[in-house]
Amino acid sequence: MSIANQQASSGNHLHRSSYPHLLSSLRAGGLLLANRGVMGAMHTRLETLDNARERIYAFYRARAEGEIGLILTGGISPNWEGRLEDDAPVLDRHSERWSHEAIIDAVRGTPTKVCMQILHAGRYAKHPECVGPSAIKARINRYAPRALTTAEVWQTIEDYAEAAVIAQALGYHGVEVMGSEGYLINQFAAPRTNDRTDEFGGDLAGRMRFPVEIVKAIRKRAGREFLLIYRISAMDLVEGGMDGSETIALARQIVEAGADVLNTGIGWHESSIPTVAFVVPRAAWAFATAELRKAVNVPVMASNRINDPQVADRLIEDGSADLVSMARPLLADPDFMKKARLNSAQLINTCIACNQACLDRIFSHESASCLVNPVAGHEIEFPFTPATRPKRLAVVGGGAAGMAFSITAAQRGHAVMLFEAAGELGGQLLMASAIPMKTEFSELLRYFRKSLETAQVEIRLRTKVTAADLVRDEFDEIVIATGVRPREPIIAGIDHPMVLDYPDVLLHDAPVGERVIIIGTGGIGFDTAEYLLGRPNAAPEFAEFVCEYGLDLTLRSPGGLTTAHSEKKPGRHITMLQRSSERPGSRLAVSTGWIGRQKLARLGVRMIAGVTYEKIDDDGLHVVIAGAPQVIPADTIVVCAGQESERALYDELRAAMSDGKIHIIGGADVASELDAVRAINQASRLAQII
Ligand code: NAP
Ligand code: SF4
Repeated sequence: MSIANQQASSGNHLHRSSYPHLLSSLRAGGLLLANRGVMGAMHTRLETLDNARERIYAFYRARAEGEIGLILTGGISPNWEGRLEDDAPVLDRHSERWSHEAIIDAVRGTPTKVCMQILHAGRYAKHPECVGPSAIKARINRYAPRALTTAEVWQTIEDYAEAAVIAQALGYHGVEVMGSEGYLINQFAAPRTNDRTDEFGGDLAGRMRFPVEIVKAIRKRAGREFLLIYRISAMDLVEGGMDGSETIALARQIVEAGADVLNTGIGWHESSIPTVAFVVPRAAWAFATAELRKAVNVPVMASNRINDPQVADRLIEDGSADLVSMARPLLADPDFMKKARLNSAQLINTCIACNQACLDRIFSHESASCLVNPVAGHEIEFPFTPATRPKRLAVVGGGAAGMAFSITAAQRGHAVMLFEAAGELGGQLLMASAIPMKTEFSELLRYFRKSLETAQVEIRLRTKVTAADLVRDEFDEIVIATGVRPREPIIAGIDHPMVLDYPDVLLHDAPVGERVIIIGTGGIGFDTAEYLLGRPNAAPEFAEFVCEYGLDLTLRSPGGLTTAHSEKKPGRHITMLQRSSERPGSRLAVSTGWIGRQKLARLGVRMIAGVTYEKIDDDGLHVVIAGAPQVIPADTIVVCAGQESERALYDELRAAMSDGKIHIIGGADVASELDAVRAINQASRLAQII
């Protein structure tokens, strides 16, 4: 049993759960699901790593032991053309079966059920063999699709059925047909991507024929008892997408054709509306699921941005959904459901919707893991063995790295003392959670604090410990996690009173004037601009989100889109500057950077690249842009020019103590690209072996 499991099990078994609806069982098709929690389909790319079979087994086994009712695997293509990318999995009669066998083995002996998702990428396939209903290229793919012939469409339907039958023979309890997110089935159903003139195009009946025939074919070949879930696009969020009445008509036909459960998909991947990132309010899309649920007589599943057992429980209680799909939250914490059952929700490691170690990694062709849980996808590298010789450990610095290290080390049996100079634990995470829309970061702080308490880490706040103190106290080993300090650029007048660094603004609430210059256009520069133009510490609000992105709550318009309303007039004029000539913000994360760029552009933030800084004086910032000297007037200049490692204490200790007794982790070790993923991962790995 993992330490996380032991921790959850220490709750009081006799208490009634606070989430009775989420924890209640449900009959779906021929199956009895132990609870309403579903791990949604995720492309993990685990199959591409060394020891893949072992990894896949361990990944799914942890989730099954964590008591999730139903697991949906990542998408598996029913044929070669439909694979998502070159090395993405396909299941046809020629495919290897080992990865599926590992998944089936993983849930064996547990109440967890598992369904394989069948996903044909259509025109989103990132390879030259990609196909679609019509030869209409997707904006987000460099490959144009070839239009399938009518005979090939019928063959593709057969391929879906064949994949389902193979899945059944392998031991899966059912399949989920991926009919949303803009993949092949969506491409057939929506007029924007289907200009066919055969029986698979034209009016709604023609466009619906492809998905309906797939469901019929699977049902016919796999029989009545095999669970058949259909993931329907409840809102396409693209122009020329389906409207609500078409979606309802499709849902009814899909159920009539034999689907047992409908899952809700939201938004095509090419949509410019965020659907899963932290700017999306929790359970924002449940209204669309509720509409579907009214129209059909089978269980309906809500999905996207549901990361909390209370929210999940409420959706079932208020009739919005019968099941709740949580994909990333199960990466973040495999024991989500078990902790909910044991009323240990405070110990749930909550998905903060950052996408940094899951989607961003997948987009860059790496395997998925999780910022808050580096064990995800790497279970076999984290055996959680108790320490053979418990030690007295000092940890200096209570940021992400220091806290993550302390928790795991203490759970393994070491006596850990954590020193923090500030009056509060958190470090950079405190700043992140102050950014409007990034308040989910406060869940990570809550998790760390609660876990430190449970693991009995001794915490010394407001303690700026010295090398002499640490040497005198004779700790067995010392871990330096002193983090970073903001970089101070060399510009004449940088000590002018109008100049602040970003912690002054984000952490200490220093007064900021109306005309603001931000030096630096990295992640922190963007965050600071959003902070200065938004509502600090405020979670995204549903009404604001709906207006800002132009969502049609009546679902009458194609794609569920209406006119976006401009946001509140910003109270400040912000200019962001950088020296390099690349597009400002181009290095932000793939899956979320575009949201920030879009938002600041809407708010009228001016961004200038190719700037040379000359000096700062009472008139503002003197710069040279494209060879022309000019002065940008400002009331406040905020420096967001990156960071440098804070490692003076480490260097001092190295000189005073023997090798092997001092360790350095997190930003103190490497400041460039200051990165919570790397910090928590490095800290957790050191805590495993110390
Ligand atoms: P960063 O991404 O390295 O950006 C630093 C900025 O400062 C750049 O625009 C750089 O542009 C400028 N700069 C660097 N050295 C300078 C100097 N000596 N003088 C003047 N300007 C200088 O650093 P960050 O913004 O602090 O972000 C750090 C890390 O935090 C990121 O890498 C990311 O991992 C994480 N983060 C990400 C996000 C996100 O993706 N949304 C949000 C927050 C934090 P020039 O060199 O061209 O002038
Ligand atoms: Fe959630 Fe971020 Fe972890 Fe992805 S990396 S699962 S978004 S916390």
